[in-house]
Amino acid sequence: MPAMKRVHIAPTLIDAQLAADLLGSLGIPNHIFNVNAAGALGEVPFVNAQPEIWVDDDSQAARAREILARHASMRADEEQSCPHCGETNPAHFLSCWHCGNALAGRFSV
Ligand SMILES: [Zn+2]
Repeated sequence: MPAMKRVHIAPTLIDAQLAADLLGSLGIPNHIFNVNAAGALGEVPFVNAQPEIWVDDDSQAARAREILARHASMRADEEQSCPHCGETNPAHFLSCWHCGNALAGRFSV
């Protein structure tokens, strides 16, 4: 019986959404929690208001953390080549701006 497990605490909702999309694109179902808690500052400690990524199946947690660690280690000014058309894309792009094919294969573990 799979259980949900937290794999990431994001500094911003944008970061959380990017991480969630990345995991989802690699076949790891996940949810963002605490999204709405950002409006409750003053009632809860700030750290508890940061969005969290939870995977639906804890057996995928280790893989999810590895993917997110790789993604976090990339600098925004690095580049990757599209495997489909060869166009250069920023390293954090998940799909090619030129042809739209997925670039997420580089995150596969
Ligand atoms: Zn392309």
